[in-house]
Amino acid sequence: MASKIELQDYITVGNLAEKLTVPVSRLITELMKNGVMATVNERIDFDTAQIIVDELALDVELVKKVKDETPQARAKEPMSEHAIERPPVVAVMGHVDHGKTSLLDAIRGASVAKGEAGGITQHITAYQTTHHGRKITFLDTPGHEAFAAIRAHSARLTDLAVIVVAADDGVKPQTVEAIRFAKQAGVKIIVAITKIDKEGADVNHIKQQLAEQNVLVEEWGGDTVVVEVSAKTKQGIDNLLDMILLVSDVENLRALHDGPAKGLIIEAHTEQGRGPVAHALVESGTLKRGDFVVAGSSYAKIRNLESPSGEVLISATPSTPVVITGFKTLPEFGDAFEVVDNEKVARNESGSAADKKQEDSTNRLDLSGNDLIKIINRSKQLQFLNVIVKADVQGSLTSVIDSLKSLATEEVAVQVVGASVGVVNENDIHLAHSSGAIIYAFNVPAPTNIKRLANRDKISIREYSIIYELIDNARDELSNLLLPELVVTEIGKLQVKAIFKTTKGEIICGGEVLEGKMVVPCLVRIKRGGKLIAEAELIHLKRGPQDAKEVVKGEMCGLGIKTSAKLVVEEGDIVETYRQETIERKL
Ligand code: GDP
Repeated sequence: MASKIELQDYITVGNLAEKLTVPVSRLITELMKNGVMATVNERIDFDTAQIIVDELALDVELVKKVKDETPQARAKEPMSEHAIERPPVVAVMGHVDHGKTSLLDAIRGASVAKGEAGGITQHITAYQTTHHGRKITFLDTPGHEAFAAIRAHSARLTDLAVIVVAADDGVKPQTVEAIRFAKQAGVKIIVAITKIDKEGADVNHIKQQLAEQNVLVEEWGGDTVVVEVSAKTKQGIDNLLDMILLVSDVENLRALHDGPAKGLIIEAHTEQGRGPVAHALVESGTLKRGDFVVAGSSYAKIRNLESPSGEVLISATPSTPVVITGFKTLPEFGDAFEVVDNEKVARNESGSAADKKQEDSTNRLDLSGNDLIKIINRSKQLQFLNVIVKADVQGSLTSVIDSLKSLATEEVAVQVVGASVGVVNENDIHLAHSSGAIIYAFNVPAPTNIKRLANRDKISIREYSIIYELIDNARDELSNLLLPELVVTEIGKLQVKAIFKTTKGEIICGGEVLEGKMVVPCLVRIKRGGKLIAEAELIHLKRGPQDAKEVVKGEMCGLGIKTSAKLVVEEGDIVETYRQETIERKL
């Protein structure tokens, strides 16, 4: 059986070689074979490591190390005996147009869906409803956000997923996806068959389709509760709420109500006159106005504590959705928040989170898995730019698509993964997310709420009204997919005559320049008997005791070579100096 090796997001080539117990030169050679020059001290990301292990056909399974602060890991904290009952947190998911919004509205007893058509209603992220005197918290997220929330925060955010299936349409791709996410997250599923009032509703057929997805309903011997509802006639809504409470009782949902609050940020935006506004869900403890909270790299002294519908709250207990103002900067969706003692602690903690974030981003290496994939795939397949095209009329849609397709070369091409007439909608965002596509909107707007969704999921919506500008942009994107040309310039050769010092990070040796010159800084190859033994960097150059910028053929000089602990340079080795640059190519 393959042995398992745990890796963080990044690892140096040297450390990876050590973990894999293969010579570092073998790793470097493998990288080089794929056209990538990386020295022992360079960091590669997990994906790159995975690719190299695959290419080397090693009997090893790489596993990503789960950081302790991940939400899932925290959710496993043992429950204190003082924990008391809390309301369930429910996400409603399902295929687009199957009736999620209408169902949530019917439960809330208000009609927000109508307002949303105009794109003006402020999106509410969560709300609480009371049924038989007991509270239920619904995450009122458009389908796609619910997916993202479940995927990113798994069991931490939701206790229960209500999967909506329209009686007249049946199980569809997003239904299947919703079921998969809920199962992966270990979240209980209740199926709500909606639009039961409509003609052509075939409940048995849906149960059959669910069984095909391994969702077995109770009457067929499974344990999934199915409720038939109509948002239009309100039939079955009470029953659905009963079932939600029943399933939550079985789950025995508890949390500590006393003490400083902890929770998750579920949305954040800036409002004129109010500054950063964060929507959050309290998970444990009691949150109060005036508390100091830290959320990721931001902190607040809570100025206003409100319910999502705007009521002023004095305090909020577990499973309560709240709106908080007073943050210094905008926290991020998915940030865990925590109440701390005072402003000093808040400032310090958020400051160190900000530093870490900065460090994480600067630690990114020049060589990512994507680059490597690009290089490896180069000989194997064409690179595609995935796009979704939206346009005002069919005619312009066709001409945009035709023009995009005409950009194809032997190396790169546009792949249209979705195209339709009309404004950019939630479904487009969802598709862009799963396919990694750019959305080109030609002569059609993207409503503000859709832009916000796109922003959060880092999906690019590009609006154009002039076709050649759109095409120019696609051409630039395709150019980015073209592999840069790697140009290696040989500079010189030196024969090592003496080794002066070998420390952990540097070898200091001396020798005679045989060809060309030695310059600093530059890259070096160290060869023994004509064979490459290592790749490294020349960081110091000395002529006698003096630092030198370059030393030419026939002269003697000292070299400081930055290297890993393991490299041993011997007398007689050849040090070849060279420069390497990548040149961007354009279509
Ligand atoms: P979502 O995309 O899943 O949020 O779906 P919506 O709630 O926006 O509903 C899509 C369409 O189905 C709308 O035209 C609704 O009026 C309609 N609809 C939703 N629920 C019902 C229902 O129970 N009965 C009927 N007849 N129509 C419904």
